[in-house]
Amino acid sequence: MDAEAERLDRVAARLAAARRVTVLTGAGVSAASGVPTFRGPEGLWRRYRPEELANADAFAANPRLVWEWYDWRRQVVARCSPNAAHRVLAGWARRFPSYAVITQNVDGLHERAGLDDVIRLHGSLWEVLCWDGCAASPPRWRDETVPFPDLPPRCPHCGGMIRPGVVWFGEALPAREVVRADAAADCDVFITAGTSAIVYPAAGYLHLSRARGAFTVEVNPADTPATEHVEVAIRLPADVALAELEARLQGTRTTAP
Ligand code: NAD
Ligand code: ZN
Repeated sequence: MDAEAERLDRVAARLAAARRVTVLTGAGVSAASGVPTFRGPEGLWRRYRPEELANADAFAANPRLVWEWYDWRRQVVARCSPNAAHRVLAGWARRFPSYAVITQNVDGLHERAGLDDVIRLHGSLWEVLCWDGCAASPPRWRDETVPFPDLPPRCPHCGGMIRPGVVWFGEALPAREVVRADAAADCDVFITAGTSAIVYPAAGYLHLSRARGAFTVEVNPADTPATEHVEVAIRLPADVALAELEARLQGTRTTAP
């Protein structure tokens, strides 16, 4: 048996015995759906790095440019569908008595695969809020217009600008989601999938779960700063790895990768 199949077997055995399972997902989980990751070769939009556009100063200086980027990303994601990784992770909500998916993704594909109650650390591409925080507007609301006819789009309550409902560099994570993620790090098996494990505090949940006794697993075709800290590193794309784990859990092993 090859080493990767053996690693999948080890993780599947742990999962089969687990009551509390938590999965942290990043952009790599959506890669097989055609959503570009930030740090991959398609992560650059025009000549900009994400850090240059995903911050409040950039938005204040050039809201139209920043909105062009988000409008393009919304168009890309609108054409994509959930992949096997999203489907397996949605199905696990019925398998494990205690289960959580913490995501850094803003694309909404976990939800489209049927998973409720995703812990969203970085907000959503499909939510917006009033840039001025006008009193008449709710704190944030869903808007799935693709593409927006005019950029920057306008607040229906005050006529000012709206901004994307995502967490930008330099901004705090939503407090409620941080509390839920912290609680979810208390688990039997913790899987980090498709994230470069660079962006904190998200990357810290792995270490937290491990300190609390979890069996830790990484799913990523490439090595990351997390690789040396996990019990098992599965070097496969997330859709392949999760489908393999699910097949083992169902007792119907597919051919080894
Ligand atoms: P990242 O772009 O920094 O890293 C992606 C990781 O996924 C890399 O380690 C890469 O090796 C791995 N990867 C690539 N293809 C994969 C596959 N098929 N299966 C498994 N892993 C694969 O992404 P990140 O760590 O999530 O970065 C953090 C920030 O990027 C987050 O703030 C997030 O909001 C934002 N982001 C989100 C999306 C999205 O919502 N889909 C897309 C791009 C960036
Ligand atoms: Zn407003």
